[in-house]
Amino acid sequence: MERNSARRPRVGAYRLAGLLAAGIFLISSVAANAQTVERVVHISVDGLNVAMLRGLLDDSPELVPGFSRLIDEGAYTFNARTDYNYTTTVPNHVSMITGRPVVQPEGQPDTVHHGITTNGPAQSATIHSIGNLALGYIPSVFDAVHDRGLGTAFFASKTRLAAFVERSYNAQYGAPDTLGADDGRDKIDDYFNLDGDSDAAVTNFLAAMDAAPRTYSLVHIVDPDYAGHASDWESDEYRDAVLATDERVMRILDYVGSDADFAGKTAVLLTTDHGGAGENHTDPLVGGSYTIPAFLWGPDIPAGVDFYSLLANRTDPGDARPDYNAPQQPLRNGDTGNLALALLGLPPVSGSSMIPVLSLSPDPIPGDIDRSGSVDRLDLALFAGHFGTTGATWETGDFDGDGNATLVDLALLQTNLTHAAADSPQAASVPEPPALVLATLAAVAIVAPSRWRR
Ligand SMILES: [Zn+2]
Repeated sequence: MERNSARRPRVGAYRLAGLLAAGIFLISSVAANAQTVERVVHISVDGLNVAMLRGLLDDSPELVPGFSRLIDEGAYTFNARTDYNYTTTVPNHVSMITGRPVVQPEGQPDTVHHGITTNGPAQSATIHSIGNLALGYIPSVFDAVHDRGLGTAFFASKTRLAAFVERSYNAQYGAPDTLGADDGRDKIDDYFNLDGDSDAAVTNFLAAMDAAPRTYSLVHIVDPDYAGHASDWESDEYRDAVLATDERVMRILDYVGSDADFAGKTAVLLTTDHGGAGENHTDPLVGGSYTIPAFLWGPDIPAGVDFYSLLANRTDPGDARPDYNAPQQPLRNGDTGNLALALLGLPPVSGSSMIPVLSLSPDPIPGDIDRSGSVDRLDLALFAGHFGTTGATWETGDFDGDGNATLVDLALLQTNLTHAAADSPQAASVPEPPALVLATLAAVAIVAPSRWRR
């Protein structure tokens, strides 16, 4: 025993510095892991208005198990927004994939918007040929994923939308890949569209993911929009279309939750291009059209929380309809492509302007033993009382999850130690942080060998 401890090297300054550096590294990798997934399934439900969905969720959640699950297990809001000026399918979907407003916001540069105002593009048109000509090529979330050597998919059920998007990013019209290895100009690896048949879109999507799981997938479900136009946005037919949509969503959630290539490493992000009221949705001044739901579900996404609580630079607009110059921006469907990229740990679409900032904090800060929200003198005092504990938990000083309260844990704590006021009266008698860290380190160097021998 004596020889053992005598041979053990003293805790020297260099070793401590190394441990502190290791602590910093651990923290940054913990933070990155908390916010990234390997795959995102981005679902756009065409014409999904808030009134019907909320009514179903409130009155008969058993009829909408898919949406119920998104709410119970993830983040959600019923108060996101469409584009400010347009509440139609093609312009809003182009915003989703490009991260840009439809038209130039007043006072902003002419390179901010994508410029696709038509809801019925000609069969030869591309986003680049009829969009904002000041931009030339208009990159998308498909470019951002594909050009990094990752797989993409687009499964849809509305031809005038799907064909236009697919054409814009195919082998002929997609831009050369100048990022890293050349993955070719075709930005969308798997493409499927059958007008009016979202069941086929989802069935083919799941089959394609079985064959080749992709990093980013956009799945478009048309049913509510077509039912809304055929009847209206409050009709039984519309309600049935939302129920049918729920069944498709449930199938995707079941697949993503159980397939080995997706389970535990996939986020599902669901929103819509526009809502609807009465028999239409084209008036951007109508609340039922510009007010839309949004859902985020996946590992590290807290359950049952307001979507806005996870966004650092987005604010619930209440009843307002903020334009793109408003200091507090709402979450918009045009944010969701870049949100998908953020979830994947990738930078936003090149040149895009709608860039929501995710701020997930699923775990306490390493060192925050008492989970007060900050690491302070009391945490350090508590840690000193547990140092060397084997079989330790968070409460007894294990922050890196190795089951022991070690110098690495102290380093994590020290890195996060704030000089803010103590979080409890007990801490008032504890010395100021710099002195205490030195004192604790000295104590550690003395007591460590005997603790480690056990
Ligand atoms: Zn429509």
